[in-house]
Amino acid sequence: MITPLMPTYARAELAFERGEGPYLYTEEGDQFLDFGAGLAVAALGHSHPHLISALTKQAARLWHTSNMYRIPHQERLAKRLIENSFAGTVFFSNSGAEAIECAIKTARKHHAARGAPERYRLITFEGAFHGRTLATIAAGGQQKHLEGFGPPVDGFDEVPFGDPNATAAAITDETAGILVEPIQGEGGVNIPSEAFLRDLRRLCDENQLILILDEVQTGLGRTGKLFAHEWSGATPDIMAIAKALGGGFPMGACLATEDAAQGMITGSHGSTFGGNPLAMAVGNAVLDVILEPNFLENVLRVASRLYEGLAMAQERYPTVVEEIRGVGLMIGIKCRAENRALVKALIDQRLLSVAAGDNVVRFLPPLIIDETHADDAIQRFERACTELSQNT
Ligand code: PLP
Repeated sequence: MITPLMPTYARAELAFERGEGPYLYTEEGDQFLDFGAGLAVAALGHSHPHLISALTKQAARLWHTSNMYRIPHQERLAKRLIENSFAGTVFFSNSGAEAIECAIKTARKHHAARGAPERYRLITFEGAFHGRTLATIAAGGQQKHLEGFGPPVDGFDEVPFGDPNATAAAITDETAGILVEPIQGEGGVNIPSEAFLRDLRRLCDENQLILILDEVQTGLGRTGKLFAHEWSGATPDIMAIAKALGGGFPMGACLATEDAAQGMITGSHGSTFGGNPLAMAVGNAVLDVILEPNFLENVLRVASRLYEGLAMAQERYPTVVEEIRGVGLMIGIKCRAENRALVKALIDQRLLSVAAGDNVVRFLPPLIIDETHADDAIQRFERACTELSQNT
């Protein structure tokens, strides 16, 4: 018999009833160190006082009005995102996939508005993940996500990740742009060469293509810069963000330059919930904290402590750990053991992590952790490795 919840997830036998900072607590009172942060969402940890205050204040005032009216919190958040990025305009959605949908539509419409509607195709990359809507599973190109859902949405041409020559060779008269994650998250924390985004930028400039970055996972400080593309020096024309933007309140955003968004006019796109007052009050509160001086420095400082500890663990447990890779607090542990077995062994040590492609376990901790949390995580990690190495 089917379960009351549609059985689309393989859930761990764990339920949490409260959280504080980087910790989650079960009903039985067991404490877990949360290095998954709800899939890179709880960037400020759990129950952050500034977010609780913003949410409760707004909840007592006004939740929702729809986009038929002006929403001052939305205007303010858009302005602040623009001030801190390449963008000239912002559309607010409820999720990462919807932010990507808006990005895809904006890129297609850009060319249509310039009299070239035949340019609708996007070059995408093997190992990508962009969400679970029909268009975003087509963009991700993973057979396991496409299987059984009918003909994939047309318009995506996949090439190997990190390969500028293959990207150049895939450009045709129908190409509208390139859609890429600066670092592939679900694919296994795959980091391309430093020059890759700059190469894509150059290809876009040479061929009048739109460069779309999916920073749904990498954005808002995860890598130690506000946006991961800042490491490369290349800027996109369109960027999707979500996850950390709401710190746990569901929201996403599509940022674009004025030129890229030239086709997006009244009626081009919409959302009932996107950018509602409650979400926007929280989004502004998240930005208050992430934009504080020293916030990103803390990410990099704690990250280097974690990399040190993980490198030592890698040496000590070669049958479990093959490689450590990552940027800032987006960390991939490529396993020799089975990655899901490591996730389970970490749960036994009360440390939460997230499995990814390429047999990787991800650490995506809240960005507010300090060195003591990093050291604590490393101790738990070593104990899990001990347990696993005894079983292999
Ligand atoms: N893009 C990337 C890079 C992601 O990691 C995700 C989610 O994991 C998405 C898009 C989809 O976001 P959402 O699950 O909020 O629709």
